[in-house]
Amino acid sequence: AKKIVIKIGSNTLAQADGTPDEEFLAECARACAALMRDGKQIVVVSSGAQVAGISALHCLSSPPQGAGLERHESRGVIPGDGASCKQALCAVGQAELISRWRSAFAAHQQCVGQFLCTKEDFTDSDRAAQVRYTLSFLLERRVVPILNENDALCCSDVPSVPADRRVSLSPQKRIGDNDSLSAFVALLWQADLLLLLSDIDGVYDKDPKAHTDAQHVPLVTDVSALVGKTSMGSSNVFGTGGIATKLDAARLVTRAGIPLVLANGRHLDPILSLMRGDARGTLFV
Ligand code: ADP
Repeated sequence: AKKIVIKIGSNTLAQADGTPDEEFLAECARACAALMRDGKQIVVVSSGAQVAGISALHCLSSPPQGAGLERHESRGVIPGDGASCKQALCAVGQAELISRWRSAFAAHQQCVGQFLCTKEDFTDSDRAAQVRYTLSFLLERRVVPILNENDALCCSDVPSVPADRRVSLSPQKRIGDNDSLSAFVALLWQADLLLLLSDIDGVYDKDPKAHTDAQHVPLVTDVSALVGKTSMGSSNVFGTGGIATKLDAARLVTRAGIPLVLANGRHLDPILSLMRGDARGTLFV
C-alpha cells in the first residue's frame, strides 16, 4: 500500500483523564515518519477534540460557570444538558489536539496541516475536488494532513436556539463520526488502505468488553453477512462511533476495492507491526 489513511479513535488517543497521550502520539508520529521515508503517503484522521477540550477546561482552576459542565468519573468534566457546550469543548480541544500532533511530528522534521471538514466537502463535487487538490498539494510536499470533522460548527444541538433558527448543520449534513470521515477521505483520495486504530484488536462476534467468550474475527470478506452475525454493543460515551460505524466504513471502502484493517492502537508499534503483517486485527477485503 502506498496511500494510507490512518484513523485514530478518541479512547486510543486520550488517557483516562482526557489529555492526549503524548507517548502514543510520539509513537504514531514515529511510525508515520518511518512509513513516509519508505515512500508511503499518510493521511491522519484524528478524533479526540472533545475529550481534549474537557481535559483542557478541567485544567483551568475552575470550569466555566454555567457552561453545562458536570464532573465525570473518568473524564474529569463532561458536558451536562447544555449541548452547546459540546461545540465549545470541540473548539478548545481541537486547538489542543493539533498542537500536540504538531509537536509529535516536528520531532521527525515533519510538518502537519489541519483539515476541519463538513459532510459537504465530500458530497459536493467542487468542494471534494478542492479537498483532493489541497491534500495532494500537501502530500507532495511531505506535509501530514490531519483531518477531523469541524465539530465546533457542525453540532446541530444548540439548546438556546429554536430548532427552525439553528444555523448549524442538521444531522443529515453532519458526518457524525470519524470512522465515516476516514472512509470518505479514503474514497476521495483513492487510498490503498484504511487503517482504523481503536482500543480493540478487531471485530468480535459480540462486544468483548461485555462478554469474555467473544470470538475474534480475523478476516471479513462480506461485511453484510458479518453484521447479521455480530452483536454490536452500544456506541461510546459520547454517543458516536462504536463498532457499527466501523463496519459501515468497511462496507463503503471495500466496495471500492480499498481494504480496511481494524487494529488496537494501544499495542506497541501498532502501525509498523501491521505493515510487517504481525499485528492482530481484522482485515476487511
Ligand atoms: P473508537 O474511539 O476507536 O472509535 P469506539 O469506542 O467508538 O472506538 O468503538 C470500539 C468499541 O466498540 C470497543 O472498545 C468495544 O467495546 C465496542 N464493541 C461493541 N461491539 C463490538 C464487537 N462486536 N466487536 C468489537 N468491538 C465491539
